[in-house]
Amino acid sequence: MTDLTGTQRLYYDDAMLLRFSASIVALADDGRRVYLDRSAFYPTSGGQPHDTGVLADVTVVDVVDEDDRVAPCLAEPVGLPVGAMVVGQVDRARRRDFMQQHTAQHLLSALLADRYGWPTVSVHFGDVTSTVDVSGVEGLSAAQLTRIEHEVNEAIVANHAVAVSYEDAATATGLRKASDRDGMLRIVSIEGLDRSACGGTHVARTGELGMLLLRGAEKTRGHTRLEYVCGERAVRRARADAELLERTARPLSAAPDDLPVLVPRQLERLSEQDAEIRRLRKALAGYEAAALWQQAAPDASGLRRLRHEVDGPVKDAEALAQACVALGHCVMLVTSRTTGGVLIATAADSAVDAGASLKAALQAVGGRGGGSPRLAQGSVPDIARLPELLSALGF
Ligand SMILES: [Zn+2]
Repeated sequence: MTDLTGTQRLYYDDAMLLRFSASIVALADDGRRVYLDRSAFYPTSGGQPHDTGVLADVTVVDVVDEDDRVAPCLAEPVGLPVGAMVVGQVDRARRRDFMQQHTAQHLLSALLADRYGWPTVSVHFGDVTSTVDVSGVEGLSAAQLTRIEHEVNEAIVANHAVAVSYEDAATATGLRKASDRDGMLRIVSIEGLDRSACGGTHVARTGELGMLLLRGAEKTRGHTRLEYVCGERAVRRARADAELLERTARPLSAAPDDLPVLVPRQLERLSEQDAEIRRLRKALAGYEAAALWQQAAPDASGLRRLRHEVDGPVKDAEALAQACVALGHCVMLVTSRTTGGVLIATAADSAVDAGASLKAALQAVGGRGGGSPRLAQGSVPDIARLPELLSALGF
């Protein structure tokens, strides 16, 4: 059943009217979509997300705007017929939160346009943060961002009145952005700062915004996107930031304020230690190589066959293999106990081509690999076939 009469939007004239009664004028979606003669529930529109709450004791999960009608969508069928009176209750915290984010956007957009010459091209109100995209920004420093934040907060503390008026589109003047609508416009004014045509919900005075935190700015599709939070969200974000810093500082036995000095110092120490570890590994590889070379008895031609096994990737033993072959007259074979990886390195005077011999031996056992005459790498498909590969390579 359809009723084409429009819904009276109660939130237009009283953004803090949260409990209201209305009558059902039509139903859809098996009674889950309820058309009312009047609604304090705000529908998703103008970038602002919908309200939640309860209608006739059923949870409101969405509110849709269908031109002249507003329909709360329920989690379950309303269970009442057309004509029934129902009571709706808007979720206060969510409504107030979006009123704050939305009004803050008007204030921020006004300031960015008037003081910096950056008009707003689009806005987004998210569940966690909100964004304003502006054009004309040549570059935005951290100091400038802090200054803008300070200026917005000064306007908040000044507690400017925010008022709604209705004016004819043909005669309304001083609008920040010309409206493309005809007829009556709903105009939201921030005393002395802004006049914008808008259908959203706003606070009554800027002081209700609490504080605004500019989270950052980034370039996006030719514009600059400023991310912000205000009100309770700003406090929550600041609290989360403080906890993050605290958790980061704790393992370092430091105070959060010391982190900017301490963290670079620790990173520098790490990089010095890495360099030291590389130097020690190289020295160790030299000793290990000498021992391996000594242990391997030379064959009739004077060639020594050196064997080494690793638990991880064979690549880890490459430095050792290089140190061995540097001693001359030898072939070094590294295998992995876990991966089936094989690495072979040959001394320049060994007359053994590492790449060619490994490739041929691997092909015989269904493996793959290859490399240069001095260094080659590969793997067997099954570790059980390693002994076969070893004998093919003369080990
Ligand atoms: Zn607005």
